[in-house]
Formats: sequence, C-alpha cells, structure tokens
Amino acid sequence: MSIGRTILLKMAKSPFLNRQATQRSFVKRATKRFMPGEEPADALRAAQLLKAEGRGTVFTKLGENLTSLADAEAVRDHYLWFLDELATSGLDGHVSIKPTQLGLDLSYEQCETHLFTLAARSEAIGRVFWIDMEDSSYVDRTLALYRAVKSRHPRVGLCLQAYLRRTPADLEALLPITPIIRLVKGAYAEPADVAFPLKADTDRAFFDLTDRMLQAAAGGFCVPVLGTHDIPLIDRLVARAKAHGATDKQYEIHMLYGIRDADQRRLRSEGRAVKTLISYGSAWYRWYMRRLAERPANVWFVVKSMLG
Ligand SMILES: Cc1cc2nc3c(=O)[nH]c(=O)nc-3n(C[C@H](O)[C@H](O)[C@H](O)COP(=O)(O)OP(=O)(O)OC[C@H]3O[C@@H](n4cnc5c(N)ncnc54)[C@H](O)[C@@H]3O)c2cc1C
Repeated sequence: MSIGRTILLKMAKSPFLNRQATQRSFVKRATKRFMPGEEPADALRAAQLLKAEGRGTVFTKLGENLTSLADAEAVRDHYLWFLDELATSGLDGHVSIKPTQLGLDLSYEQCETHLFTLAARSEAIGRVFWIDMEDSSYVDRTLALYRAVKSRHPRVGLCLQAYLRRTPADLEALLPITPIIRLVKGAYAEPADVAFPLKADTDRAFFDLTDRMLQAAAGGFCVPVLGTHDIPLIDRLVARAKAHGATDKQYEIHMLYGIRDADQRRLRSEGRAVKTLISYGSAWYRWYMRRLAERPANVWFVVKSMLG
C-alpha cells in the first residue's frame, strides 16, 4: 500500500480531523466532486439527469459506526422514507447500506431486524437492497446478515472485496444461494495477512473472482456487479462475459458519482447496464478520505478548493 494511501486512511479515523474538515468550507466545496449535495433532494435531482442517459442509481446516506441505537432507528426511518420517495420518483433507484449505520457495533439482533424491515420495503417496490462491506472485522457478521436477509428477500445484494484473501472461499460458499454480488477492490487499511498489499494482486483477484461470477451468471446462479472504475479491467471482463455466454442483462457495472463519468456514459451507450452510486448526507468525512486515499492525487482538488 502506498504511503499516501496509508496516511489518508489513518487520517480518516481521526475524530479531531473529522471535526476540523467538516467545519471548513473549502473542504466541503471539494467534496462536490464526488457528491451532488448533502440533501436527499440533491441526490434525487442528480439521479434524474442520469436517468435521461439510461443510467440507474444506487443511493447511500453517509454515516457509519453509529454509537446509539436510537440513531440506528433514525437511519432505518430515513431509508423507509427514502424508499417511498423512490417508489414515486420513476427512477431505477436502489439503496445501499452499511451494517454499522444500522447499529451493528451495538446490537447484531437490532441491526438484523432493521435490515429485514428495509429489505421488505425495498422488495415491495421492486428494488435491489444492497449491503455494503466495511473493514475485515465485520466480514463474518455481514455475511451472516446477508444470508439471513437473503433467505427472506431474494433481491438483496452484497458487496465483496477482491483485496481480501478470504474472498474466493466466501464467494464459493455463497454461490449455492444465487447471490447478487457487487465486487469491489476494497477501500480500507488492512494488514498483509488479511488483504493483498500489492495492487497487482488485488487486480488479478478481481479478474478471477468476476470471471467465476460471470460463468455462474451465464447459468443463472449469480448476478454479478463490477464495482470498479478500472476501465481496462472492465473491458477484459466484458470480453469474458461474452466468452461465458452471459448476456448484457446478466451483469451490471456500478461506479461512483463523479468518477470516470465519460466512461460510464460510453459503457451505457455500448449496451452495458450501468448504475451510478450517489452519496448524500453530512457525515461525509470518513467516506471522503477513502476517496482521496484511492487516488492521493485527489488531494490536489482540496488544495485548489482552498485557493478558491
Ligand atoms: C459502486 C461502488 C460501491 C463500493 N462499495 C464499497 C464497499 O461497500 N466497500 C468497500 O470496501 N469499497 C467499496 N467501494 C470502493 C472500492 O473498494 C474501491 O476503493 C474504489 O472503487 C477504487 O477502486 P477501483 O476499482 O476504481 O480501481 P483503481 O485501480 O483504484 O482505480 C482505477 C481508476 O479509476 C479511477 N479512480 C478510482 N478511484 C478514484 C477516485 N477516488 N478519484 C478519482 N478517480 C478514481 C482512476 O482513474 C483510477 O486509475 C465501492 C466502489 C464502487 C464503485
């Protein structure tokens, strides 16, 4: 892992820097590159523009590691309201949630209950309900939550991370339940015995895991989502999809708002199913630091915003 990435991911955990950054208007200005605004209405407006290009949307309200169960209930209620908004919006919109945003650090049972509630509402309006993957200490619990929710509500998707050494085994164990999987490279600082320290190994794992999912998709045993902005990798995998006989409808490509936008449009115009993940909310500090860590050159945008 590069020194820049390590430093930025350490900074992401600092409550002091969190307070400082969220009070500085120039940092807030810099976040505009990756989020249309803090309000749900900003996110919904941006999604309407993407819809005109045939792109779907996945929404996430920022926030993680909540420290009160009352806050987790408020998050659940927010998403229930948001799903109602989606139902009337005419958007191909879905939501994606971090288990610690529903209180996983405080109560597994309550987090599970909230997930059941939200997955049921999402299913009632015909959407896929997504569960994000956080750092490696949460993987076992998140997999257990996914299995529980999926057993009641089939249209539930889970994020898996290619940088984790355990992921090939996790994927094989999930295939018998016809999972919906968004594969990403992985955004957290992890020790070398848990995750590949070299990017080339993660990239290779991403290819191999997606290849396996595409093969399963062609037989109807998996719905894979390529959650990456790595265009050469996507191009190679689109070729693998064809080789396996997986149709354009049997897999999707998801990218983050504001990243590789021209490529998102191009892939859509070439017939791929593309969705853009839009984040909103005021708790953007940790999430934003992870975006900087993915590409430390992004720090330059913060500097430019500081200079006005
Ligand atoms: C839809 C979606 C959902 C995600 N959900 C999760 C999750 O639940 N858990 C998790 O751990 N991670 C999640 N991630 C983040 C993911 O793990 C990676 O950190 C992130 O996608 C960057 O890796 P990459 O695959 O784009 O590849 P990279 O090889 O890092 O990047 C490829 C190219 O994409 C562009 N790029 C990538 N990141 C940035 C950036 N921040 N700013 C500007 N350009 C950039 C650059 O041009 C770069 O050369 C998600 C990502 C996406 C797209």
